[in-house]
This record gives sequence, structure tokens and C-alpha cells, in this order.
Amino acid sequence: MRILVFNAGSSSLKLGVFDQHGADTVQVFKGAFERFRDGGCLARFEAGARRETGPAPHADLAAAIAAVPDVLADWGIAGLDAVGHRIAHGGAEFTQPARLDEATLARIELLTPLAPLHNPANLEAVRVARNVWPDLPQVGVFDTAFHLTNPPRVTTYAVPEAWRAAGLRRYGFHGTSHKYVAQRAAEALGRPLGDLRLISVHLGNGASACAINLGRSLDSSMGLTPLEGLVMGTRSGDVDPGAFGYLHRQLGLTIEAIEDGLNHDSGLKGLTGSADMRDVEDRAAAGDAAAQLAINLYAYRVRKYIGAYAAAMGGVDAVIFTGGIGENSASMRRRICDGFDFMGLRLDHDRNMAVDLADHAAPQIQAYGSRVAVIVTETAEQLQIAREVAAQLRRPVGVPRPLPVAVSGRHVHLCAASLKALFGDGYELTVDKPLRQPGNWAAKERVTLVGPKGRIEHIAILGPLRKATQIEVSRTDSFALGIDVPVRDSGQLEGTPVIRIEGPAGQIDTDGLIVAARHIHINPTDALAMGLEDGQEVQVRIGEGDRALTFGRTLVRVQPTAFTEMHIDTDEANAAGIGPGCEGQVVDLSAHPVLAG
Ligand code: ADP
Repeated sequence: MRILVFNAGSSSLKLGVFDQHGADTVQVFKGAFERFRDGGCLARFEAGARRETGPAPHADLAAAIAAVPDVLADWGIAGLDAVGHRIAHGGAEFTQPARLDEATLARIELLTPLAPLHNPANLEAVRVARNVWPDLPQVGVFDTAFHLTNPPRVTTYAVPEAWRAAGLRRYGFHGTSHKYVAQRAAEALGRPLGDLRLISVHLGNGASACAINLGRSLDSSMGLTPLEGLVMGTRSGDVDPGAFGYLHRQLGLTIEAIEDGLNHDSGLKGLTGSADMRDVEDRAAAGDAAAQLAINLYAYRVRKYIGAYAAAMGGVDAVIFTGGIGENSASMRRRICDGFDFMGLRLDHDRNMAVDLADHAAPQIQAYGSRVAVIVTETAEQLQIAREVAAQLRRPVGVPRPLPVAVSGRHVHLCAASLKALFGDGYELTVDKPLRQPGNWAAKERVTLVGPKGRIEHIAILGPLRKATQIEVSRTDSFALGIDVPVRDSGQLEGTPVIRIEGPAGQIDTDGLIVAARHIHINPTDALAMGLEDGQEVQVRIGEGDRALTFGRTLVRVQPTAFTEMHIDTDEANAAGIGPGCEGQVVDLSAHPVLAG
């Protein structure tokens, strides 16, 4: 499948053409139209060994996109199958790539107030591209989507209710980049992404840090807009919101003027006059005090976020550097990483200086014995967009059918050692009744959970025994126990809280306490018929009437012998007002993004 990818900004258009064969994505063409002004622009094209750069007559985004068919023909690139677009803001509803038809575009248009500086250019690119390639599917990939897993404590600003109701919340951006480099880092470390606590630091003209906990974005430094967080080329990053009132009273500035200043005249540019880190580093080296301060401040802000995210995740396995500055500035990486010995991170200065990123390399530059890896890798947002477009288009078109829903009460799965400690040596559980998932059963025996605030008795034990003890409770139970229990996929137990379990023969204190993330067990035949794939996250509409709910991010697990059903917990069932024998319906988001909220 050959995919043309556009990344449209207010003053530039970047594009790439990618061939997707199975899991491999190969870039066959790269281009950019930059600095639209004075009736022209600067164009750069590259394919294989051929490279060209020079002035071009295209005065704006629309003219540049309209010229792309001729450019591609000139470079011998034919046979496009789809067009992918980077869309900055997908709000809370676009959790995955979406086909850009009129209804979807109208929906994205409604999000423009959230991203007035970014979405209009993205949308213009889509509209022009739909005219230029009317027969090709056009798919949008959203910068915000990766961060929609952030929990409410991360996404909520502590502001009046009415402001929150008006949509003021944190989103986070650069999601495509953070997702790509996290996958790349996991490959480089040879470990599953789902086992890793990563901090991705994207330092380009825009800059953000992201905490990726066990494969999912937990927090990122950008907020409602891409202005919050790190110091950037022209953006301030974090400032006290009190600045608005102060600047208004002292300098008579309007809200628009302050916003403009924070977005376009701050950051490195505000501190030094140049938004370009290479200039700033050169000036600092020549003794310019303003440039030296800018570099210190820039690195310090990144360090603060790395420390904060290590604390938020309860540890970190790797820090990833990417973006023009993260990839190229060894001195900035060193400034950021120096002094992190206390948390087990030590850089190898020779490796740091020798970084070579050719062929999508992801070298590790930590010192021997450092507990935390440090990885440098090029970001490849367009390549990631191409991958996601291909996956979206390949997704089999299934026939919607009702999905049985099972409600899981609180229960435990025991390992052999826990069974022995709780019930005595050589004890075997008594099978009470089989469960619908083949091979699984409920035992007659019961245990008690004991937390700092309370006890819960008569907890069911589900067999067979597992490698690790896992305790599944609801959010409500977590309050009764007095323990902040994380939502986790089954088996993802690293760093989970400790709970006391009491049995007839003894008690144990064990980790493995989770609120189980909702999921769908499905066998391959049903998955094919319903157009679902293993690892996919879907939304499911459950319940009827006033309490009907659409549940987001429901993980699909295709297993050879699964009895097809969705598992939710008692809190979720109560929220949707449902009982036994209920059915759900997978919502086709790409066709109806409006339903996704
Ligand atoms: P964008 O976010 O627009 O994609 P990039 O990721 O290309 O931007 O990053 C641009 C930034 O990277 C600029 O500040 C530029 O100065 C910086 N940069 C590029 N190469 C180097 C280098 N060798 N040393 C320091 N900074 C660099």
C-alpha cells in the first residue's frame, strides 16, 4: 500500500510517500514547501540519492498541495492508495485515525477553538487534497489521540466547574511522535512496550515530554494547547497564569497580544532573539550571557519534567531523546542528564558524543551499570502516520453484531506460593463451577482482603492457578480498602500496590492489586466476522435508556478458544444500569466519530 502523508503548518507543508508492506514501512519520497511569503516558497525534495532544493512559485498551502501531483510525477512516484493527514487536535473524541469524509471534517472543524493556530491549516490541507485526489481515501491521524489514556488527575485543571464544562482540560500533543519513539525504544531495549516506564523528550521547534507508563501515555507536558510545559523555539512553556492580569495592568496588553507573545515571541526567541537552538548554542559558546541563560533554563525545565514523571510512574526504565535538538545536540542531552545519578541514570559521555542515527538507529548512550537507559532516536511522525493509515484501511469491514457482556465481581487469581501460604501446604482448591472462558472456574473457597481503611470478606478465587497472584477489585472497593488502585490490563502487575490477603491457614502481603481494564475476549471466527483485531481498542455502547453508556478504549483480545464476551466490572455495570444477560454493540468510530464522546 502506497501512502502520501501531509503535515501542514501555517507557514510550511511537509510531505512523504511511504510503502507499507506487512509490518515494514519504507519512505520512498520526502518533500517540504517552506516559508510561504512574497508570492513563493522554498521547496526541498528527496528520493533515493536524488536531492533538490530551491525557490518555488507556490505562494501558499493550497498552491503547494495542488502542485504535488506534478512533483510526484516528475520524481517517478505513482500508484498512490491513500492520503494521510496529521491533525493537531482531535479533542476527546478522536481516539484513533478517522476517515476524513464531510461529516468527520465538520466534526473536526468544531474543535478549531481548541487549536486555532494548528487545526485550520490541517483542515485546509485535507480539503485541497480531497479535491486533488477525489478517488483516494483520506485519513486523519490526531496528535492528541495517544494522550487520551491520561487519567483525570492529569487532564483536569483545578478551575471552576463552569470553565471545565466549557472544555478547559489538558490534552497533550506530539502524540504520534511519542508513540513512535516509545515503540522504537522498546525494540531497541528488546523488551515489550507494555513492561516499560518510559519518558520521551521531544525537543524540536515545539517541545514536550511524555510519561509512557506500560505502553500508555500517562502524562505529557503540553496541556489544553501546545503552549504548556517545556521552553520551546518561540513558545514560553509554563508561566504563571497570573501573567495575563499583570501584563494587562502594567503594559495595557490585550489577551490576544499576550497569547501572541507567549506563542510567537517567547521561548528561545524571547530570551535570545533567535528561535534556533544552533544559533543559541553558538552564541553561548562565544560568551553571550543571554544565550547561556536560555540554555540553562531550557535544560532545567526538561530536567524538572523528567524528575516529575519518574515520580509519577514510581520509576523509569528509559529516557528517550528525539526532535531536532534531542537528536542532534549532545551538549543539551548532557546538560539534561547530568546529576541524575540519584535515580540511577548516568550518561556515557563518549557514546553521547558519537550518536549516529542513520537507518532509524536508536543507540543507547547510558553508562555501563546505569539502571536507566538513555536512548536517542529520530522521530518519524510521517512514517507513524503512514502506518496508522494503512492499519486503519486494512481493518476488515465487519458486520456489527451484539456482543455479550459479562460483569466481573471482585476476585483473586492465586499463584502456587500464595495458595500454600493462605490454605496450607499441599492444599488444592475445590472447583465450584466452570466459567464461560474455557478452562476457567470459580473455587468454593473464599479469602479476605485487608487494606489500611477496611476489609472485604468472601472474595471469590478463580482458577486455575497463575504464575503471579492478581487481585481484581472495583474503584469503589479501592476506596473501601483505602488504596489507590491502578487500572491495568490483566497480567500487567509491575509496580502495583500491595494488599493483605487472609486465608484460613495464614495471610500474605502481595502486590498485584488492580482494577481490571475492560476488555473483549473473542475467538478468531467472531473477530473476523465483526472486523476486530487483536490489540485493537474499540468503543462499545452498552445499556438502554437514560443510563446507556459508550465505553471507550476497550481492548480486544483475540484468543483461539475464547468464548466471545466483553468483561466489565461492577462499577461499570452499575454506571450503565445493566444486569445479567446484557449485550453491547461495538461502535464504528471511523464512520461515526460523533458517537465517540
Ligand atoms: P520541528 O519541531 O519543526 O520538526 P525540528 O525537530 O527539526 O523542528 O527541530 C528544530 C530545532 O532543532 C531547532 O531549534 C534547531 O536549531 C535544532 N537543531 C537541529 N540541529 C541541531 C544541532 N546540530 N544542534 C543543536 N540544535 C539543532
